[in-house]
Amino acid sequence: MKDKIFAAKCSSCGKLSYPTHYYCPGCGETKFEPVPIEGEGKLLTFTRAYALPLDYAQRYLTLGIVEMDSGIRATGQLLIDEPKIGMRVHATVGKVREISGEDVVGLRFGAKGRG
Ligand SMILES: [Zn+2]
Repeated sequence: MKDKIFAAKCSSCGKLSYPTHYYCPGCGETKFEPVPIEGEGKLLTFTRAYALPLDYAQRYLTLGIVEMDSGIRATGQLLIDEPKIGMRVHATVGKVREISGEDVVGLRFGAKGRG
């Protein structure tokens, strides 16, 4: 199982991109090095999705957009019962859903200091 999710760091100007682009949005360069998305960030906004496809095990998903301390913004599943905008969260990588019996791994955010 893949246990890290990577952003792309521009080899030329150092700008981080996630999701990754073919061209650096900062300088147009096309060479990048992978940088794992990890550590902590701030919850910018979140939403609950109730109309899930049938192959989801859970009734709803809470999805959040987090501004990581590295500056990138990443979307992931929130593992927090009562999220509050502006709260500190930390990123983990884990199973976010199952498709035809196979785990799908993605970014998840938990409350800082727990889970
Ligand atoms: Zn660049």
